[in-house]
Order: sequence, then C-alpha cells, then structure tokens
Amino acid sequence: MAVERFRALVRDVPDFPEPGILFKDITPLLADAGAFRSALDALSAPFDDDGITAVVGIEARGFIFGSPLANRLSASFVPMRKPGKLPWRVAAKEYELEYGTDALEMHEDAVHGGDRVLIVDDVLATGGTARAAVDLVRGLGAAVAGVTVLIELGFLDGRSKLQDVTVHSVLHYDGT
Ligand code: AMP
Repeated sequence: MAVERFRALVRDVPDFPEPGILFKDITPLLADAGAFRSALDALSAPFDDDGITAVVGIEARGFIFGSPLANRLSASFVPMRKPGKLPWRVAAKEYELEYGTDALEMHEDAVHGGDRVLIVDDVLATGGTARAAVDLVRGLGAAVAGVTVLIELGFLDGRSKLQDVTVHSVLHYDGT
C-alpha cells in the first residue's frame, strides 16, 4: 500500500492532549483492515529476516502494533509500561520531558542476553521515549535490532538521540 494512503488515514488533531500539540491520531488507519495489515507489513519489513526473538511494545499505542508484529515474526511480545502498571519485579528508566521527567518499566525477566529485540511505537517525536526503551532493553543484557515506528516527526529530530540504533519509520513528516 502506498505511503500516501497511510498518510490520508492519519488524522491531525490540534491542541490534544494540550494546547500547541498536533496529535497524530492513528485510529482511522486502524479502522481500515487493509491499511492496518499493510502498516504491519511496512513496520516489520526491514526486520523480517533479522532473527528477532522479542518485540517490545511501548505503552499504549505500541501495544497495538507490537503484539501482531511479534506474532508475525514468531517472537515473544513484551509490554513496556508507565510506572506502577506491571505486577512483577521491574527494571525502570527515567527520561526527560519538556517539563519534568517520566519513566518506563519492563519486567526484569522479560528479555535476556541472547535476545534480539525490536522496539515498536506509533510515533517518534523527540526520541526521549525510544531512547529510554533502548537503554532499558540493553540494561537487561539483550541486543536491540532496531526501533520501528509508523510515524516520524522529523522536525523534532528524535533520530539525533538514537544514533547508535537502527530506526525505521513508515511515514515521515518534515513539518507539522
Ligand atoms: P517522544 O518521547 O517525544 O519521542 O514521544 C513519543 C511518544 O509520545 C510516543 O509514545 C507517542 O505515542 C507520543 N507522541 C508524541 N508526540 C505525539 C504526537 N504528535 N501525536 C501522537 N502521539 C505522540
């Protein structure tokens, strides 16, 4: 499916969740069965023969793409969540937001040395989230094969924080 078809199915919502943010709403794309399937194809393509053993989905929209991708790649699925959501022992990583900090957690036994991990999210913006995810996975001894996202907001230059990682995006936006 052409990238322009995906682009037409991403809805721009101004001032959500707060003034000044142009939110990329992927629900119209998810609602189109063919587009959703093609998006999964596009997200996984560079990693189809890369020996992925685990797919990490970042809460919450990374779960939507991550779990079917894990299934296609015959890999395990690992949820990476906001603090306090996971029930077992966790590894955590804090990261900077524009104002303050946030953190991500994963179960400490979710990946191991010998795992080759693909990290999945819907949007790459400033890159802070993906950076924390990469560090968290590596901190548990696993290798990161790459980060794959549906949408890259290129003007926020998230890639500059991810120079040591393969980053794959399906849709690239140069401006808002
Ligand atoms: P960042 O850490 O700045 O790269 O932000 C990435 C995270 O925030 C992802 O989990 C996205 O789901 C979410 N996000 C950031 N900006 C947007 C946006 N404009 N539209 C939708 N989601 C966004």
